[in-house]
Amino acid sequence: MSHRNTAAKLPAHILIFPLPSQGHVNSMLHLAELLSLSGLHVTMVLSEYTHGRLLRHGNLHSRFSRYSRFRIATLADGLPADHPRVGERIMDIVLSLKEVGGSLFRKLMESTDALSDGGTRRRVSCLIMDRVLSFALPVVEEMGIPYVYFRTISACSFWTYFCIQEIIDAGEVPLKAYQEWKDLSGDATFCRVDDINDTGFQTIKTETKRTTTAKALILNTFEDLEGPILDRIRKHIPNLYSIGPLHAHLKARLELKGIESSNHSSSFWEEDRSCMAWLDSQPENSVLYVNFGSVTLLTKDELLEFWYGLVNSGQRFLWVIRPDSIVENDGNEVPIELDEGTKARGYMLEWVPQREVLAHRAIGVFFTHSGWNSTLESICIGIPMLCWAYFADQTTNSRFISEVWKMGFDIKDTCDRILIERMVREIMEVRRNEFLERARFMATMAKKTISEGGDSHSNLDRLIEFLKSTII
Ligand code: UDP
Repeated sequence: MSHRNTAAKLPAHILIFPLPSQGHVNSMLHLAELLSLSGLHVTMVLSEYTHGRLLRHGNLHSRFSRYSRFRIATLADGLPADHPRVGERIMDIVLSLKEVGGSLFRKLMESTDALSDGGTRRRVSCLIMDRVLSFALPVVEEMGIPYVYFRTISACSFWTYFCIQEIIDAGEVPLKAYQEWKDLSGDATFCRVDDINDTGFQTIKTETKRTTTAKALILNTFEDLEGPILDRIRKHIPNLYSIGPLHAHLKARLELKGIESSNHSSSFWEEDRSCMAWLDSQPENSVLYVNFGSVTLLTKDELLEFWYGLVNSGQRFLWVIRPDSIVENDGNEVPIELDEGTKARGYMLEWVPQREVLAHRAIGVFFTHSGWNSTLESICIGIPMLCWAYFADQTTNSRFISEVWKMGFDIKDTCDRILIERMVREIMEVRRNEFLERARFMATMAKKTISEGGDSHSNLDRLIEFLKSTII
């Protein structure tokens, strides 16, 4: 059987392989749809676990049913189904895939079924892969298939990861002066490690340096937001495509083709839409939307500090707390004052259609963990942010949100009810308009960059041309 795509002048076949976590899968699916929209043949590689979650809670199949050249291939992540995949345990997926991923990926690449199109095997022309998945490299190199990295983080965080060796050489990591280095991408598995031989730390460091071996690098960001840092990265990786914000870019391209794009859920949890009616009944810009994303964990004590801070601030709040996000949850009774304060001004639920919530006229400020997707989603709507970073790239993002882009406050990882109350009041009652002006300006820039003639728009066109050229 021929493994070449030449016979019927078929389009290039792009394999997209995200790290199986919500944020990564969301942005890679946006890219997959953009490439499918341009007529490329796309196969998305999902872990069996992720695929199961998407089938249960997202609308993956109806979303992609219009693309006859879109396929899904699955492989195991090597962890038992009930293994926790949140908090710092997210690193377990990376380490497990490192163990088992190579042979599973090889099997997938050799499988006619997984990569077939109407019975005909389609040779992969290019692999687009997430950071820490280098176990795939020997397989594609052997097969002569080029690869491209798509890092789903901000350029500023990527740059931090990229330069970490220099910081180690300068003797600054492991962190000695915690206060000075607080804004580096940091968590127990990264810059705040006590031991630089830590496996997670070493993995991320080496994988980032390896980016230079790829044919290109794709980043979900845009020139008006991170231009100076993108220029620095280009000195090391000239073939860099900034094509974000991807969710908005996809929406714009669908609209250009007259395609309805409203229902795009790729949620791992069931979306609770009841908050939309509650938001409808709230005054304009009056609600603080609190959501710390798909990975963050809170201890019971932290939960109470946030809760007291929110209730005591006297502001209206919509607070999303994932069912699996509270550790050591002993199910104790909620203090009466919190219960009453929440009934009076708050609404709490487990998972929401975030982009729709952010776009609601009642939302005034986003209290976020500064995950990169959440940050971009807020930027595109022009909503100021109050940042509480949990880990990884979030500390760098929150620093940029407050100090560089001036779109909000960064409370770092401080979790104290008095501080939270004060910051919530300050941003909702005093500083919102000032941050709003900057946020709206950046939203305009985001809109411009994805429109025809904009940087991200033309970068995506260039990327598509490049991908087409990878066909053998
Ligand atoms: N999200 C959502 N509903 C929620 C919480 C999050 O749809 O209740 C989506 C959010 O819109 C974003 C993604 O989940 O696209 C979270 O990714 P992000 O990079 O912000 O953070 P992570 O979860 O990876 O820490």
